[in-house]
Amino acid sequence: MATFKAIRIDKAETGTTVALTQFDEAELMDGDVTVRVEWSTLNYKDGLAVTGKAPVVRRFPMIAGVDFAGTVEQSSHPSWKVGDKVICNGWGMGETHLGAYAEKARVKGDWLVALPAGLTARDAMAVGTAGYTAMLSVLALEKHGLTPKDGSVIVTGAAGGVGSVAIAVLSRLGYHVIASTGRMSEAGYLRDLGASEVIDRNELSGPAKPLAKERWAGGIDSVGSTTLANLLSMTKYRGAIGACGLAGGMDLPSSVAPFILRGVCLLGIDSVMCPIELRNTAWTRLATDLDRAKLSEITHEIGLDDVIEAGARILAGEVRGRIVVKIL
Ligand code: NDP
Repeated sequence: MATFKAIRIDKAETGTTVALTQFDEAELMDGDVTVRVEWSTLNYKDGLAVTGKAPVVRRFPMIAGVDFAGTVEQSSHPSWKVGDKVICNGWGMGETHLGAYAEKARVKGDWLVALPAGLTARDAMAVGTAGYTAMLSVLALEKHGLTPKDGSVIVTGAAGGVGSVAIAVLSRLGYHVIASTGRMSEAGYLRDLGASEVIDRNELSGPAKPLAKERWAGGIDSVGSTTLANLLSMTKYRGAIGACGLAGGMDLPSSVAPFILRGVCLLGIDSVMCPIELRNTAWTRLATDLDRAKLSEITHEIGLDDVIEAGARILAGEVRGRIVVKIL
């Protein structure tokens, strides 16, 4: 029986177990494309899955990992042939469908995006779901009509994966970026990425007033809770905030005041079930609007055998920027 290396999660009497082990190829789930996985990455959600800290995994056994880049090995899908370089993000991988921390993955061809010209498979995973979500947030702000002329943009969870890529992209597009972080020691890193101002996240973490002094025209929030509530209360007339994360909590203790008195818009960002056309746009834009030198500055490489330990560190808020996982 053919087997391959994988990070496997099983259900235990209490919680889950996780181990780097051999997985039977015969256990791969249905799909019309089989991919040799070359690179993956570590996102906050992967940290939740491998530590079992939140019920991310809903099928057992599971292979963890929500993102991969690799080469097509077998395909009966009309869009893909052997040798094609592809990316896959979300669609329930690592949650309900066997995921990316493995030498092999079998998925639906409809889920795949062609690796954009100019990006290597490693670059694509340095971007990963976190970076692609940052770009989905930028696209949502642009669709709202935001331009650099409208004023500053705020990025919360700035030193994390979504935050780091959001800063690099927004600054390249000409925005005055305000980075909010709990790690003021990373101010230099954030300025190098393109932040014009760095603020302490404590400024945004207390209970929010219904309306406060207008400070920014737009924002990308990966924190949620009182942070998002404060962002909304400080957003300029007709501005918009893209909400993509919950690193600080899932609640939103806000009021309708920013919406009905300032016409502020709250834009929901989901990367997992995002339609394929928007994914293709996001990846094409990442290939052009993300400075490759900055991407490599924010990227740290680990192997499959380091993933479980790194999963605990990302939940502790100790990971800076992005982690790529070398699979093969
Ligand atoms: P990271 O862990 O890399 O970044 C999160 C950052 O949030 C941290 O680096 C830290 O930034 C800040 N943070 C952490 N804990 C707290 C806290 N208790 N209060 C305030 N700030 C905090 O994660 P990712 O960038 O991968 O993901 C960020 C969020 O976005 C996660 O909640 C994730 O689940 C979500 N996400 C959602 C997606 C979607 O489809 N909507 C897709 C991808 C991610 P600093 O140290 O600078 O303060």
